[in-house]
Amino acid sequence: MQKLANDILLKSKKLTEKGNVAEYIPALGKADPNKLGVCIADMHGNIFTAGDYNNKFTIQSISKTITLMLAIMDNGVENTFNKVGMEPTGDAFNSIIKLEIVSPSRPLNPMINAGAIAVTSLINGKDSKERFQRILDFFRLISGNNKLDINNEVYESEKATGDRNRSMAYFMRDVGIFEGDVEDILDVYFKQCSIEVDCIDIAKIGLFLANRGIIPQTGERITTENVARIVKTFMITCGMYNASGEFAINVGVPAKSGVGGGIMASVPHKMGIGVYGPALDNKGNSIGGIEILRQLSKQLNLSIF
Ligand code: GLN
Repeated sequence: MQKLANDILLKSKKLTEKGNVAEYIPALGKADPNKLGVCIADMHGNIFTAGDYNNKFTIQSISKTITLMLAIMDNGVENTFNKVGMEPTGDAFNSIIKLEIVSPSRPLNPMINAGAIAVTSLINGKDSKERFQRILDFFRLISGNNKLDINNEVYESEKATGDRNRSMAYFMRDVGIFEGDVEDILDVYFKQCSIEVDCIDIAKIGLFLANRGIIPQTGERITTENVARIVKTFMITCGMYNASGEFAINVGVPAKSGVGGGIMASVPHKMGIGVYGPALDNKGNSIGGIEILRQLSKQLNLSIF
């Protein structure tokens, strides 16, 4: 497995030249597009790593899967999906267009920005500080890394420039998807996106999902099998945004990407995989990261289909 990881990393590296780092959040534009890393964490406690696996990056949209778990645990399945739908959009992750034209008015799924902001508004807590602390504690618990914290520069950068997310959030409050202070809700969302991780952290979260909500090392059940199943299903149908169909064919495992360059994959009953490569394709997914996952899936026969 170690040799396979090294070989695949080397082969995938060439592709990073074809991608671009995200610049719409200015602090992300500073990332080195040549970086590429992978971590594979299996059910037996083995960890295989290659390349820039210990490079830190912000989790960005991968966080959407984790807050969704917490929101369902806080509110139940029915109340959560009264606020956000279950259907893929075929649009970009930050698209606004369907918010107004879909009836009843609610974001189509929790993996796009609008849906994730609605999900964040559902997290229990007396104020935004407590809400974010609960999210951070949950991230720490399921990654087994109690040092996780936010990258302040990225957080400030997105907060200063996130007007598209801001406009979606105000629209959603207007149509009654949530109440309360929009800036407070956005603040929690921007912070959750700015949590800094490496490939090992996201591989472990992927493994936790692969193990149906139980931390493999301790045997501790954190969430129900049903919650883990719902999240993995969204990862298949919407986890790679409007590239989810192609990814399902070429890779065939539940995965969630973020514009920081990470992709978290969860191979049911087998392993969690974390990849990092900040050079993105035109849909906002790590170009080298997708290639690593494609090759791993092919060599190890990982497709769930
Ligand atoms: N924080 C980013 C945003 O809201 C997350 C997007 C992403 O990773 N695709 O725009």
